[in-house]
Amino acid sequence: MASIFSRIASGEIPSYRVAEDDRHYAFLDINPVAEGHVLVIPKHEVDYIFDLPDDELAALHVFAKRVAEAVKQAIPCTKVGMAVLGLEVPHAHIHLIPLRTESDMDFRRPKLQLTPERMKEIADGIAARLK
Ligand code: 5GP
Repeated sequence: MASIFSRIASGEIPSYRVAEDDRHYAFLDINPVAEGHVLVIPKHEVDYIFDLPDDELAALHVFAKRVAEAVKQAIPCTKVGMAVLGLEVPHAHIHLIPLRTESDMDFRRPKLQLTPERMKEIADGIAARLK
């Protein structure tokens, strides 16, 4: 059975997509810690990110860099932070989170409750800034 993130990347499960190429998919985290919280995944389904072959690990980061640049332009922030946890979903993913303070990266904080309209607006705003 494909992972929930593979089912999202294939379009079987809906998501707020921000970017895609043949090997990667980026979409809004459904329970964001900050507005503009994006997940970047390889379409190659691997649980642990450091089990990816070196070239795929590198390509994932280069793709995430492009997405982070768009997030930085779309969402007012000082920098875009990057984190890898993988404790909940067993499909490798990078969290990209707009940062103003250190606490913006605190995954224990209550998650934001954003309307579908706001989520779409954020996703479209990031997608529009992708080069
Ligand atoms: P982690 O595996 O890195 O510990 O956490 C998984 C992350 O994926 C969480 O931040 C969670 O909100 C997000 N997530 C889990 N299921 C879904 C989903 O079905 N759709 C989206 N967009 N995000 C999800």
